[in-house]
Amino acid sequence: MNETQTMKGNPVRKDIEKMIRENDYKGLLFKAAELHGHLCNYLAYGVVAGCIAVKELGVKNTGMEEVIAICETNNCFSDGVQMVTGCSFGNNALIYKDLGKTAFTLTRQDGEGIRIILDTEFEDSREIEYPEAYDLWNKLIVKGKQGSPEEYGRMMQLFHEMSLKELHKPIDKMFKIEKLKVDLPPPSVMAPSVKCAICGENVMETKARVKNGQIVCLSCANQEKYVLDSTGISIE
Ligand SMILES: [Zn+2]
Ligand SMILES: [Zn+2]
Repeated sequence: MNETQTMKGNPVRKDIEKMIRENDYKGLLFKAAELHGHLCNYLAYGVVAGCIAVKELGVKNTGMEEVIAICETNNCFSDGVQMVTGCSFGNNALIYKDLGKTAFTLTRQDGEGIRIILDTEFEDSREIEYPEAYDLWNKLIVKGKQGSPEEYGRMMQLFHEMSLKELHKPIDKMFKIEKLKVDLPPPSVMAPSVKCAICGENVMETKARVKNGQIVCLSCANQEKYVLDSTGISIE
């Protein structure tokens, strides 16, 4: 897909593309929250970072792998990135590197990329700027202590308010940004499905195994498989 095609845009994403053009961070944040479920500051960082990267590379996304995001975290940031860039888990345009860094790279198919990481000093100073929110966070989430519904509601409200404020922090304080050349993996392959001889379910051929001369899925083969959960990627 060439650049002219990528610039044509996509009627399905026209509202998001308009908000990106107009730097409507608030509109994008609420859009991302439809996916994410709540407003929080890391979602806001993902929205702003996504917006910067899309504008810098001049890309529009039809979900056909013309633009790829490489995300280094599975925290709230990644949902902002997915909604704004249009690179998602389901359209094969999201590469996940299990690094635990609030960072992502957006790249065109020609390998021109931009990497954006949340600035260390900025990130470390959030607890000082928002002490009440982080006190509640540390108590209710980090230490997992039982709080009252009021405390929980107050925490959600504080993070909601914080996310709106954080949208307007100076970009050069918020992020470190670098341009880079990315070696992309080949585009995704649409492998045919085969039927597991044990459970009868269809399975993508590349994921099936042969056991005792029969085609079986990984679950029925009792084979190790990769799993992405809240702790990152592991072998199950
Ligand atoms: Zn969140
Ligand atoms: Zn099976």
